[in-house]
Amino acid sequence: EEEFVVTPWEVRGRVDYDKLLKHFGAKPLTSGEVALLEKYAGEVHPLIRRGFFYAHRDFDFILKWHGEGRPWALYTGRGPSGPVHIGHMVPWILLKWFSDKFNLEVYFQMTDDEKFYDDPEMKLEEATNWAYENALDVIALGFTPDKLHLIIDTKDIEPLYPIAVRVAKKLTWSTVKATFGFTDSTNIGLIFYPSLQIAVAFLPTELRREATPVLIPCAIDQDPYFRLARDIADTLGYPKPTTLYSKFIMALTGESKMSASNPDSAIYTLDDEKAVKRKIMNAYTGGRPTAEEQRKYGGNPDICPVFHYHMLFDPDDSSVEKIRQDCRSGALLCGECKLKLHEKIAKFLKEHRDRREKARGKVDQYRLSQKI
Ligand code: SF4
Repeated sequence: EEEFVVTPWEVRGRVDYDKLLKHFGAKPLTSGEVALLEKYAGEVHPLIRRGFFYAHRDFDFILKWHGEGRPWALYTGRGPSGPVHIGHMVPWILLKWFSDKFNLEVYFQMTDDEKFYDDPEMKLEEATNWAYENALDVIALGFTPDKLHLIIDTKDIEPLYPIAVRVAKKLTWSTVKATFGFTDSTNIGLIFYPSLQIAVAFLPTELRREATPVLIPCAIDQDPYFRLARDIADTLGYPKPTTLYSKFIMALTGESKMSASNPDSAIYTLDDEKAVKRKIMNAYTGGRPTAEEQRKYGGNPDICPVFHYHMLFDPDDSSVEKIRQDCRSGALLCGECKLKLHEKIAKFLKEHRDRREKARGKVDQYRLSQKI
């Protein structure tokens, strides 16, 4: 069996998602939880229905909490070290859905500090500028300033810092070392940083002065942070954060996760039309070497990034199912399948870019410290 590695900084090899769950100790999402979600939301988002979000910690708890009419909030974040690709946007799309369906406020952390600590080449101003640029992609999803609270770490530290200080006092060097694999040459910024990422989980409770747990939809590699947050929540008098975990977005080149060092592995929101088309048409597929073989034996959508993107971005279940079946039967050839995908992505990006430009100059209206 192939080995794989998953940490908040690295994903390598072909990931066995069940094994990963067991390793982290999170739970698989069951039909019971999905049914409860449907009861409250009136529907289930395709990203959950199709099993892309597949695991959780206490998702059942927060739904019941909601059922009791108690307050909760949403939390996610982004390490702003470069442009946003459409894979980054997938959990944000779900976040917006939750915010709309449950009328929830979103705390969105831009970790410019962490990106500065982590990348020897990165200038601090550069990371902060990326935070502003990336915020446009978040706002473009349709958020209003009363629902989206941006926290750019180096700009909006004030409400967070007292909480981070309390968190830091509960975390020992041996714990963070074991959790994140820090070494003697890790800079002390990176060592302190987990307390800031954890602090946001407790921020809504502080701001509202009543227990307000958060739901964090994110990729499963972020689990170590929130496992720590859950371990210390009680002793600090905060409710434990709850999480909903996704698998990774496949790279267009076929790897388990997209990499910033290979721009062809992902479609960026600002890629021009030519680049988008080129990347999709050159993508790795689960297809056969020749059209004849494809017609005869069919392709394999399970290992195919082109199918993966159809699954992520097509809201219509029957259209996705048809692609799966036609791929398997050999009725669909990869070239045609890629053209269909290109059509969907190009439309999504065109609308997204218009909304993104409209958000320019408005980021400060969304910053938490400007509102409290
Ligand atoms: Fe992938 Fe589509 Fe080819 Fe099937 S037909 S292998 S889904 S590109």
